[in-house]
Amino acid sequence: MTIELFRNDSYLKNCNSKIIKIENNGIKLDQTIFYPEAGGQPGDNGIIQIGNEEISILDTTYVNNEIVHVVENTSNLKVDDQIECNINWGRRFNIMQVHTTLHLLCSLISAPVTGGQINENKGRLDFDLESKPNKEEILEALNNLIKQNHEISISSISEEELDNKPDLIRTMSVKPPRGSGLIRMINIGDGIDYQPCGGTHVKNTQEIREVKKIRVENKGRMNKRVIVDFL
Ligand SMILES: [Zn+2]
Repeated sequence: MTIELFRNDSYLKNCNSKIIKIENNGIKLDQTIFYPEAGGQPGDNGIIQIGNEEISILDTTYVNNEIVHVVENTSNLKVDDQIECNINWGRRFNIMQVHTTLHLLCSLISAPVTGGQINENKGRLDFDLESKPNKEEILEALNNLIKQNHEISISSISEEELDNKPDLIRTMSVKPPRGSGLIRMINIGDGIDYQPCGGTHVKNTQEIREVKKIRVENKGRMNKRVIVDFL
């Protein structure tokens, strides 16, 4: 199994790793900072350095619960090679901001979340909601929360605790990963948002850029899509 360094510190931009497996066009590492696509958050890309050679990591995904770093060509790589990993930090930091903003959006709309997607400069959540939320109000409230200097912290609760408090799960379409006995929880500020999540977030809302635009789309009688746009 790969040690997932990004879980405890989403600000790691590089790390030293060892190749433990090579399959098709993917490599597995003993530890990694590359986030694998999950829960609506896209996988990281970047480069690995081996000696003087740089090889692009095109994408990072989960295959059978293991993290696979997708490369164009594995012919120059072998198991036990020591490499240096460098994620595309500019892209990841943008994704962290969008991701954290979607948690803030959850705090503004109390309806259950039925789906979502995170991109570098845009994110969306679908809510199980009959009436369209007001986009101007959401835009103002989100940017206020961003400016208010709220800390984001990581903690964990037991699976039993989560079973006893099912309301903590906001996103019906993404089930928190189970098996280790512990569920990773993300908390924003003093009770703004608290929910299970495996993704990467900023440390403080002040690190998030200003949201430029909110769009609300009707995706069915009980489905309203809220799109948060940073461009
Ligand atoms: Zn999250």
